[in-house]
Amino acid sequence: MTSRTPIVDPFGRRIHYVRLSVTDRCNFRCVYCMPCEETQFMPRKELLTFEEIERLTRVLAEMGVDRIRLTGGEPTVRRGFLELIERMARAKSSGLRELSMTTNGWNLAEIAEPLRAAGLTRLNISIDTLNRDRFYELTQRDRLVDVLRGIDKVTAMGWLPLKLNVVVCKGVNEEEVADFVQHFAHLPVVIRFIEYMAFGESKFEMVPWRKSKARLDARFTLDPVGGPEGSGPADYWTVRGTEVTVGSIGALSSQFCSNCNRVRITADGELRNCLAYEPDALSLRDVLRSGADDTDLEWAIRGAILRKPFSHIQHEDGQHSFEGTMVSIGG
Ligand code: SAM
Ligand code: SF4
Repeated sequence: MTSRTPIVDPFGRRIHYVRLSVTDRCNFRCVYCMPCEETQFMPRKELLTFEEIERLTRVLAEMGVDRIRLTGGEPTVRRGFLELIERMARAKSSGLRELSMTTNGWNLAEIAEPLRAAGLTRLNISIDTLNRDRFYELTQRDRLVDVLRGIDKVTAMGWLPLKLNVVVCKGVNEEEVADFVQHFAHLPVVIRFIEYMAFGESKFEMVPWRKSKARLDARFTLDPVGGPEGSGPADYWTVRGTEVTVGSIGALSSQFCSNCNRVRITADGELRNCLAYEPDALSLRDVLRSGADDTDLEWAIRGAILRKPFSHIQHEDGQHSFEGTMVSIGG
């Protein structure tokens, strides 16, 4: 239950979803995500501690945040990650409904059961190709088999709905979109095709969702449906003759800013109002370490969200890139 006033931004949008990065480190090196230059990771002492994250989670839940998604880098590489989930899951008594995670899936076959036991409610797994060589080219790791084992494990556990994230890049995996549906046809998974976004230097060309949809239409019959519970800014279709639902996340070709319900928090505690840019991020870590009580923390969050912009200016023309690095923001 909400014991504090819910968060509303200057445009009347209720903010009830937080994407929380718990580390900027990752065991993969996806070329569309990591910066080209040598990555400088955040010093450990700059990361929010488990105690700080637990407290922040509770205060956010009391302010009406009912969904938190853990992300990274790769969230599962943070030491003690299961303990962190257990601690965050305590906020369910303050109104948190969904505690989910986006992962590259490298060790899910082993940790899926402990994750669910610790209190995680949902999973998104990133997988951009079904071709082992291409997987290596994209991630610099030979881990496709492990990710597929993880997907099998999660579906065998009946931990559904399971969402798979596929970033579609021109000339790389764009011809695979229908293969994804074919490959997972027997599993009740939601495959979401994401338009590549350029952060800083553009490494690929994005493929507009309408092109991926045309490729799917050429092989399957798609019926539009409402998204599964907990779905974000995506449109959804069931695929006739399969168990699969497909969705699109067209950050560029179909701006969904007007319905934005979320903010992001980086691993060092910066509150980022928009995925695309944040000129004036509030350091929640500084607030937490300044001796602030829960009411001070609440009003600091509220004040920062008053600076949330209405929309970002990135467009399909590729004229504007997003600011920061995806690996540190977490998607
Ligand atoms: N390591 C985890 C993973 O890969 O799922 C979580 C962090 S990752 C940054 C979150 C999501 O962002 C992934 O689905 C990834 O594919 C996506 N992503 C990374 N770089 C991207 C980019 N340049 N454009 C669009 N999506 C991107
Ligand atoms: Fe790591 Fe995820 Fe970025 Fe790949 S997309 S480099 S797995 S954080």
